[in-house]
Amino acid sequence: MNIAHLLLGAAQEFRDIPALARGDAVHLDHWNLWRKVSVMSAHLTARFGLSRGDRVAFAMTNCVESIEVMYAIWHAGLCAVPMNAKLHAREFAFILENSGARLCFVTPDLTTTIAEAAREAPALKEIVDVTTGAYALMQGGDAGPVADCEPTDTAWLFYTSGTTGRPKGAMLSHRNLLAMTLNYYADVDRPPAGSSIVHAAPISHGSGLWNFPMVARGVTQVFPESGHYDVPETVGLMNRWPDCSIFLAPTMVKRLIEHGSVSELKPGALRLITYGGAPMYVSDLKRALDTLGNVLCQLYGQGESPMTITHLSREIHADRRHPRWEQRLASAGLADTCVEVRVVDDEGRKVPVGEVGEIIVKGDTVMSGYWNNPEATARSLRSGWLWTGDVGAFDEDGFLTLKDRSKDMIISGGSNIYPREIEDVLNLHPAVAECSVVGRPHPEWGEEVVAFVVARPGANLSPAELDRLCLDNIARFKRPKDYRFVDALPKNNYGKILKTELRTKL
Ligand code: AMP
Repeated sequence: MNIAHLLLGAAQEFRDIPALARGDAVHLDHWNLWRKVSVMSAHLTARFGLSRGDRVAFAMTNCVESIEVMYAIWHAGLCAVPMNAKLHAREFAFILENSGARLCFVTPDLTTTIAEAAREAPALKEIVDVTTGAYALMQGGDAGPVADCEPTDTAWLFYTSGTTGRPKGAMLSHRNLLAMTLNYYADVDRPPAGSSIVHAAPISHGSGLWNFPMVARGVTQVFPESGHYDVPETVGLMNRWPDCSIFLAPTMVKRLIEHGSVSELKPGALRLITYGGAPMYVSDLKRALDTLGNVLCQLYGQGESPMTITHLSREIHADRRHPRWEQRLASAGLADTCVEVRVVDDEGRKVPVGEVGEIIVKGDTVMSGYWNNPEATARSLRSGWLWTGDVGAFDEDGFLTLKDRSKDMIISGGSNIYPREIEDVLNLHPAVAECSVVGRPHPEWGEEVVAFVVARPGANLSPAELDRLCLDNIARFKRPKDYRFVDALPKNNYGKILKTELRTKL
């Protein structure tokens, strides 16, 4: 079983339907994408001498070539190592060295950085810029047959975003990726052939993972010409391409609804926004629903069980008359079809409904382990269960509410405090643009709560006002003992707030 068969199937079934588009223009239909990929794959094995299981990395600003490269890699039975284009040279060096990648594809903006990083990655023999003759050369010659793979072969080394330490390469097999694809149809959506997806978020992460359910259904994958998320450009592409889906991080949804160009979105242009990867505050979610209509579906997953742990469907978002509608919007929804999800104590015993514990997951989407890291694998995979490091609670209807990463939880005077609960309250204040809550060591209480707050431009915010808001909404002991007003919060390349960095500022 080789995940590249999804493209072969699409080439047969959706032959002339555009597979890839660059901005407004069609790049390749499904048949020609398949042809191109099968020729490129022959070069990977013959010219570059790569064989089953070898790693091929890429560092590319979002572009059509990233899909060509990925499918050529799988067609040849190799393993893709997608890297976020915004990483630092040192981070690229770590991933290249750790994965032992033999070849790396780049866009021209990253040639110098990758060449610098390559000095620390002795296994890396070649760097190919996809805009040069070296890449064009890979398009000549005969097509090779699709390689035989076992379902357990690693297809994608997914480097975690490393908010708590060095990134780890989650090994995702062909089977994991196929299970994730089928789960999309079961729980998220079944997009019709000829509909579209705009890849505005990094292809190395969620948006790239969504390529599978799109390829398999003959959906046109559209890459913004800018290579990144520009709201007016994205709105233009949603209007241009039919029945459009898009994956956005919560902060990107917020930027969309706060940008004037959202009013130019044509009725019916947007089929679906899947959002996830970080918490979306209820106040933002309600505004998004009011502005965009019933087009939102939330996902909770992690690189170790990609895009699949729980989901909050479009229907639940729309069910405003439900007595617990708001509570449900604040949750991450119900367990996905393809996995079993439990909330457990430290010994792995299920905790009762309503009680908080660590979230663990089992199923065909769960990674086989971390690349070359048996210690981390043993910590995360225990008796077939993935320990997510996330803390949450189920309600009586099976809705899972995420509290926090277990490492971010604050323990003050013996009580657990979940930063997200306090952040939710602070976000209610109209002058708060963003905030993040962390624990500071305290000699008597163990830890005390500190809030970092970014005020909206021109707003006048005082600690007293925020304190009042907390006193009105949450238990006294949870309210921040210190408010730090800052211009911006430190974030990683996926827009996730780096609490580790905030803690160093305490
Ligand atoms: P990554 O492996 O980089 O995708 O990061 C996964 C982590 O992001 C999860 O373990 C969660 O802590 C967080 N996350 C993912 N989806 C959600 C969501 N829908 N709501 C809140 N946090 C999320």
